[in-house]
Amino acid sequence: MKRDIFSLKGKVALVTGGNQGIGKVVAGYLADAGAHIVIFDLNDASAVAEAIAKEYGVQAAALVVDVTDPQAVEEAIQKAAGIMGTLDLLFNNAGICLHKPALEVSPQEWLKVIDVNLNGIYYVATAFARYLVAHGKTGNVVNTASMSGTIVNIPQGQASYNASKAAVAHLSKSLAVEWAPLGIRVNSISPGYIRTEMTGTVRKDWQDYWVSTIPFRRMGTPEELAGAVIYLLSDASTYTSGHDMIIDGCFTVV
Ligand code: NDP
Repeated sequence: MKRDIFSLKGKVALVTGGNQGIGKVVAGYLADAGAHIVIFDLNDASAVAEAIAKEYGVQAAALVVDVTDPQAVEEAIQKAAGIMGTLDLLFNNAGICLHKPALEVSPQEWLKVIDVNLNGIYYVATAFARYLVAHGKTGNVVNTASMSGTIVNIPQGQASYNASKAAVAHLSKSLAVEWAPLGIRVNSISPGYIRTEMTGTVRKDWQDYWVSTIPFRRMGTPEELAGAVIYLLSDASTYTSGHDMIIDGCFTVV
């Protein structure tokens, strides 16, 4: 390619929820595209960061951060920028899912899902944007929403998750408009059923039902999301902001 518009060379990318699943795999792909990586996760992702640094010859670091704690997030952003020299890109991806009928979900359980999936996304995105503005920089955010923000999955009850993800997609659009004058783009991806630690433990008969209803007749892999994240974080998409990219093997099309 003569013009390397998909390159992330020399950029520093922050990935939340990068200790496993989608975050871990996509972090590797961002490094392959040239980005240095810093991971925020509830768990110590040092081993993931070391493996990425070794395989792709980039700088990589990991910080234990609970994205539901705004103060901790703010401090971690400053610390990450100190370690990496700067921050340019954010893959805001940490999330949890609760499979439970709404009539059985306690207020605490409801709040927990909303806290991680919506408030966490907001705290990290705004702390990241504050850092950029304070340092006179432009930047770029991709939030992980879900196809569950567009459709209602069955047979499992997951109203809290679905509501949180619909909110993430609309929050992304709202921030995209607010931050357009600041040169900060904000997009979201909405994956369909993806085989990760999150979905791997779900009862087999539900997984079989899901697969039977996906036109592709299979779940996706985290690798199949990487191209979209690279596209949205790179100069290949400089006129794209406030977009929600659904990647779901046609699930929401039918
Ligand atoms: P995983 O559970 O495999 O990975 C999520 C990571 O985020 C885990 O390492 C988890 O730690 C971490 N995490 C959870 N809560 C917090 C927190 N409060 N602060 C910091 N880190 C946290 O999930 P996936 O990789 O499957 O999902 C990643 C994202 O993609 C989520 O937002 C999810 O909703 C979304 N998504 C997933 C789909 C799928 O089919 N897998 C489909 C559509 C969207 P711990 O393990 O300790 O909880």
